[in-house]
Amino acid sequence: MIARSTVIHDTKGLLDALPTLKLDVPDDVFLATGNARCAKAEVFVNEGDHVYLGQVIGMRDGGFFKQPIHATVSGTFTGYEEHYHRNGKMTKFIRLHNDHKDEWDPSLQPRSDEEIAKLTRKDFVEILQQNAMVGLGGSSFPTHVKFNHDKPINVILINAIECEPYITSDIRLMNEEIEKIIQGILLIQQAFSCKKALICIKKKHGKLCRVYEEYLRRYPDSGIEVCRVGNFYPQGWEIAMIKSALGIDIPSGHLPSEYGIANFNVSTAWGIYDAVKLNRPVVERRISVSGDAVNYPSNFNVRVGTPLRFLLEKCGGYRHPDKDKTIILGGPMMGASMPSDDCILTKTVTSVLVFDYEEAPESPCIRCGSCVYSCPTGLEPKQIMDAVKAFDKPRMKALNPLKCIECGLCTYVCTSHIRVTDYVRRAKVFAKMK
Ligand code: SF4
Ligand code: SF4
Repeated sequence: MIARSTVIHDTKGLLDALPTLKLDVPDDVFLATGNARCAKAEVFVNEGDHVYLGQVIGMRDGGFFKQPIHATVSGTFTGYEEHYHRNGKMTKFIRLHNDHKDEWDPSLQPRSDEEIAKLTRKDFVEILQQNAMVGLGGSSFPTHVKFNHDKPINVILINAIECEPYITSDIRLMNEEIEKIIQGILLIQQAFSCKKALICIKKKHGKLCRVYEEYLRRYPDSGIEVCRVGNFYPQGWEIAMIKSALGIDIPSGHLPSEYGIANFNVSTAWGIYDAVKLNRPVVERRISVSGDAVNYPSNFNVRVGTPLRFLLEKCGGYRHPDKDKTIILGGPMMGASMPSDDCILTKTVTSVLVFDYEEAPESPCIRCGSCVYSCPTGLEPKQIMDAVKAFDKPRMKALNPLKCIECGLCTYVCTSHIRVTDYVRRAKVFAKMK
């Protein structure tokens, strides 16, 4: 989603310097019964049942994998409510009333160092699946699937690039949780028997790079190093990151693992530590709140399942409550636009952007070619758009829209304010049809 209603001015330089605030945990939290990857779910608790923090209270079904639903507060299951999910769909949520005791499920006992030392890659797969670990950079891809193969891995890339404007949650995490991040990376290395790991950080974050280099002197034999990568967007796209860090071009349709590479977002590495060492799922995460329409943009530690409205109140509410809003969960380029602020913050929400809505009508295409020059995957977005408008399915398929990573650049650069990415998304749907 490109925030067309506003000029993108990067507030990163302000927010990344401010410490993360701890958000109160609301009286009620909400957990989705389904999500974009899991259409169905079974709930194991009945109304009135007590639940512990971290307890498995249901199971989502993603077809080829199952995903446990963990309680993110201790308290009582009080029924269901419908709210918007980060995928923009009205969804049925489990409602838990918080007793504010934060009593962890007693069955979740930490692992000793001796137990951890014996874990195999297969054990990691099981632990990560049990803890419903997913890509916390926003991808929500199930992490255990990335471990569940026997290909040799020669290098692990930690994506600490955070390349979209406005978002600073990973930068704050890196400043505030350095030891846990390093421990998480060491665990990933153990799982893959991999001696080398590179933490990829943008060159412009020179101080952060130096902090990590200095800290890593405590781990001289770890094989973990800082890798400075470019400041451009979409440097955080895994294919661009791999090219910058290792000089390897991964052809379309191939996986990094085929080249001996495993890559994880830095917040995922942080979450893996909790899953493996503490045997606990992610129940809280950092979320950036930014945009022109919110009073006090900040980074917050937010309990998973918190309603967005609760978070926005703590940011001092809207600057102009009478104006319509553009609300985006995720970054301005790749995030999802929400139909309302009645949505729930799941563990894969990295940021919330709020802008006062302003009409930006589209003009006819002037064939400037900017969208074509900007596309990092070498597509021809203008031609794809024309094929969609003409409903020319063979042409759509021939233009290979499935290569699109939905980076949003074609919309961002379009001088006619055409939402070109939306057309490419539509072409992707048709290209998947037989
Ligand atoms: S076509 Fe897809 S990959 Fe290319 S610029 Fe547009 S959104 Fe990005
Ligand atoms: S950037 Fe916009 S105006 Fe230029 S060719 Fe692409 S669609 Fe047309």
